Amino acid sequence: MTPPGLVFTLGRDTLPPLSELRRWIAQALPRLEADHLWAVQLVVTELATNAYEHGAGPVTVTVSATFRPCSALLEVHDDGEAPPVAGFPHPLTARGRGLVLVGDLAGEWGVRTGDTGKTVWARVDCGTGTLAACALRAEPIEMDPEPC
Ligand SMILES: [Zn+2]
Repeated sequence: MTPPGLVFTLGRDTLPPLSELRRWIAQALPRLEADHLWAVQLVVTELATNAYEHGAGPVTVTVSATFRPCSALLEVHDDGEAPPVAGFPHPLTARGRGLVLVGDLAGEWGVRTGDTGKTVWARVDCGTGTLAACALRAEPIEMDPEPC
């Protein structure tokens, strides 16, 4: 069973506080080992940046995790309706590679659309692909309700 997620909101009045978001992820997922945490932080950075640059309204990040198997679920919501587009941009194009990274690091990712924008989600597991497995976690994660 996945515990309830923790929520981080990025407003649009300043540049997105991505380092604060990555610190929040580390605090929300204190039992992830370094490789797994790094992958989750990279994926959430890409998803939040996409939502901030191409979406609308505040960007809401929700994270939840299980340790059977060791897996983190990220959900990034914004009020924009256009879904993100994954692809391989021209080599001289500055942007457009984030979802390629997300696809490589996340076991699964996708988009849900609704009446109020879209949610891009990604599940990042360890012990798959190039990600080392965290040590076996026998007990469910205990998430700090106020990590910051
Ligand atoms: Zn792990």
